[in-house]
Amino acid sequence: MGTVLALMELSRDREVLPSSLEALAVGKMIAEKVGLKLAALVMGGGIEQAAESLRAFPTDEVLVVDQPLLEVYQPELYTQAVEQVCSEIKPDYLVMGETFQSIDLAPRLAFALDSGLVTGCVDLEFDSGETLFIKPVYSGNVMAAYAVEGVPRLATFRSKSFEPAKPGESAPSPVRSLAISLDQSSVKIQAVEQVLSGNGHAQGLENAEIVVSGGRGLGGPEGFEILRELADQLGGALGASRPPCDLGWIEPSAQVGITGAIVAPDLYVAVGISGSTQHVGGMEGAKTIVAINDKEDAPIFKIADYGVAGDYKEVLPQLLEGLGRSK
Ligand SMILES: Cc1cc2nc3c(=O)[nH]c(=O)nc-3n(C[C@H](O)[C@H](O)[C@H](O)COP(=O)(O)OP(=O)(O)OC[C@H]3O[C@@H](n4cnc5c(N)ncnc54)[C@H](O)[C@@H]3O)c2cc1C
Repeated sequence: MGTVLALMELSRDREVLPSSLEALAVGKMIAEKVGLKLAALVMGGGIEQAAESLRAFPTDEVLVVDQPLLEVYQPELYTQAVEQVCSEIKPDYLVMGETFQSIDLAPRLAFALDSGLVTGCVDLEFDSGETLFIKPVYSGNVMAAYAVEGVPRLATFRSKSFEPAKPGESAPSPVRSLAISLDQSSVKIQAVEQVLSGNGHAQGLENAEIVVSGGRGLGGPEGFEILRELADQLGGALGASRPPCDLGWIEPSAQVGITGAIVAPDLYVAVGISGSTQHVGGMEGAKTIVAINDKEDAPIFKIADYGVAGDYKEVLPQLLEGLGRSK
């Protein structure tokens, strides 16, 4: 029986990321539809607890590669590690949550494994024995269905496209440690330092349940100070449209959109953002969208659930005061 391998990514605290649990749910769906086993693969250094936590989820096996050299993401070593796991397990599918790490790793794996990859998937279809990977294209105006040639079929899945896997009630899944050998001589990229983004959101924009984003309408970096207050007040992450990132008002990792982070939070607050297709393509999956814009005819209001037409400098202080009072 073949296998669906779901690659688990860990946070700095070595906890399995929500997007990986979503990938695990995707893996389970494929395994059930196609009639395959499901294995979760977790890699890193000192990851016993993460491996143990994964046993509670309904998988056939938890595969563990615990190696000090994998403690920090290093593209060449991670590629080697997954390649070796694949040569032993021979998975039919390799699925991952879409993160900054998997955006880097997945194409390397597709090349190393001589297989096909679909990135940014939001859905799956099963058609006459073929698994189709569904993703938005042309700024989200078209949904395209891709079949993958080669084995394993590789795919990354946008955050919040699927409900995360939940711990099951059956006996804990068995754990298997895999021994791999890493060749450091092939390493061309050295990780020098890891810096937590100024965003400060532990799980990144993609996994945040609330995102508060600012656009060019904020007028400068000082506009982001009051926006940060709102994000903190709501317990959310701070995002931005592209111009504030390009202009250096906020760090580039805050960019939301088709060339930035794709987010699908429960609440997205867009302040001073016009609603270009490139921005909307990265946040239209949000459950509730609130827009604050001084132009009543701004396109963002077309997709907003709630809108305030006004100058953010007047609206935000009132909003903050109201939130303070409601606490
Ligand atoms: C290939 C390509 C990829 C791109 N990728 C992305 C991407 O990933 N993400 C992204 O965001 N953009 C992206 N862009 C840029 C995109 O086309 C838009 O230029 C950008 O999204 C506009 O950002 P904005 O809405 O902040 O600015 P603007 O379009 O300038 O809008 C500013 C808004 O603020 C409002 N405003 C002004 N003053 C105030 C005030 N005091 N109070 C309240 N509202 C106010 C204005 O009415 C206006 O609606 C991309 C472009 C290209 C060509």
